[in-house]
Amino acid sequence: MLVKLSTKQARKRRAKDLFGEIGIPRKLLNINNTYKTAKGLDLDVSTAILYLAPYDESGVNLCPKASKGCARSCLYTAGHGSMDVVERARLSKTHYYLRKKAAFMLHLEKDIAAFRRNAKRRGLVPCVRLNGTSDIHWERKGFVGADGQWYESMMHRFPDLQFYDYTKFTPEERPGVAELDNYHVTFSRAEDNHDRAMQALDGGWNVAVVFRKHLPETWQGVPVLDGDVSDVRFYDKPGHVVGLKAKGQARKDTSGFVVDGGER
Ligand code: SF4
Repeated sequence: MLVKLSTKQARKRRAKDLFGEIGIPRKLLNINNTYKTAKGLDLDVSTAILYLAPYDESGVNLCPKASKGCARSCLYTAGHGSMDVVERARLSKTHYYLRKKAAFMLHLEKDIAAFRRNAKRRGLVPCVRLNGTSDIHWERKGFVGADGQWYESMMHRFPDLQFYDYTKFTPEERPGVAELDNYHVTFSRAEDNHDRAMQALDGGWNVAVVFRKHLPETWQGVPVLDGDVSDVRFYDKPGHVVGLKAKGQARKDTSGFVVDGGER
């Protein structure tokens, strides 16, 4: 596993060096290659996910609302363990995104278009999650597409394609999401954002909660659905808590990020 560097500058330099070493990644998206996204195939859904370096691992914090508990649990540990090839690719992609944004967005547009074509050819419903390990307001990331047109976001560029994400921002903090029919967002509860989670529920978003072992039937009086059945969040019934079982480092969490069934 890569060593966590102590200063932002050192982490930025490492991301830059890795980008120089690895070069422009051939593909930005991971397609159906996690246990949960592969389960989407059972529902005839094909899933593409963009994984950047979470939290401040690249020297730039891509998760401004992250809690200590979620950052600790997330940093490269849920599923990929010490595969530092994964970490290196995420850091290099993050440098690409941060420092060469116009080229990155064009590349992303191309990869999404190819993914969509391929999924449709196979008779699958394509969907894209851009915040695999980040919390970026993608609905506000405008770019000039390959056709020379300005698009307000990838969601505007591909209006017939379903996008989805998890976020720690509330509906009020991401008002652009409500204007998009093709962007589904689930709020992600942590040990320090209980009131915000309640606001998200009030605002009509589902809330994802990580439970230690068993999923309760309700949390805070709200029915819990099993979010591990697949990652196809946009098929979830509204007005629900999305229960996730702790995985990887999260199993050892003591911060309150992971809750025992029925707890706050
Ligand atoms: S859990 Fe989400 S907000 Fe927290 S560090 Fe990971 S990607 Fe960022």
